[in-house]
Amino acid sequence: MSKPRLDGKVAIVTGGASGIGEAAARLFASSGATVVIADIQDALGEAVAASAGCTYMRCDVTDEAQVEATVGAVVAAHGRLDVMLSNAGVLLPTGSVMDMDLAELERVMAVNFRGAAACVKHAARAMVPPNGARGGAIVCTASVASLQGGFGPASYTASKHALLGLVRAAAGELGRHGVRVNCVSPSGVATPMSCALMGVGPEELEAMTVPHNVLRGKVLRAEDVAEAALFLASDQAGFISGHNLVVDGATTAVNPAVL
Ligand code: NAD
Repeated sequence: MSKPRLDGKVAIVTGGASGIGEAAARLFASSGATVVIADIQDALGEAVAASAGCTYMRCDVTDEAQVEATVGAVVAAHGRLDVMLSNAGVLLPTGSVMDMDLAELERVMAVNFRGAAACVKHAARAMVPPNGARGGAIVCTASVASLQGGFGPASYTASKHALLGLVRAAAGELGRHGVRVNCVSPSGVATPMSCALMGVGPEELEAMTVPHNVLRGKVLRAEDVAEAALFLASDQAGFISGHNLVVDGATTAVNPAVL
């Protein structure tokens, strides 16, 4: 099977200034797409865009008007939108359930769920008539926390479960217009988000995870997740929609008691 390509396609990657989004923006661009990175870290986003052959636009996904404006600007500049990778996310230490900071819970939901919903909504509007007619591919970065508890605070788990529900509902509604909607769900990747939560650097975090991986000795990298997102975004995944592509080396498939 040949490598998935995105030649001639126009893509937005939210949260593309860092981590998994950065890896995806670089991979999508090197796979032929015109890529717009949408993020709130302007200096980082501009630098990544410059080195990856992408462009950068500031877009806070918690503000629907900014999402709408970003999609509109991309369509105005490039004539179309084919791929939306809704990847921007946060993981905040909202505490245990009994001590949960509900204001922080709302911040998590505002980015991970409502922000993603705005991206799905406005990407879909650009892909279906009367604005678009070619269909498209929407991929949301969820997490193994979309399937199970215990992969982060309850607020994060709830936001990713909600996101998976949104993706499934959207896949059902948008399929008639040729728009596919999927999730990619990684387990732990050493990115600024996870390193900040654990209070360690990337090498230390990877060293901590290796002994616990079902795939012994292997480490999940942002580039691995980007490859899965590329496949879902590409025409090679043309009959795949409403799917949650778990990239976790069997973590959620295996009973930990038998390991
Ligand atoms: P990261 O912190 O490196 O990247 C997240 C990016 O999102 C940053 O560039 C940040 O500026 C951007 N962002 C945050 N809030 C935003 C907003 N309101 N509007 C626009 N951009 C915003 O973290 P990452 O690990 O690469 O996370 C990317 C996605 O992967 C997230 O959705 C996260 O939940 C998911 N994920 C990460 C892991 C992991 O272990 N790192 C595991 C599973 C899922």
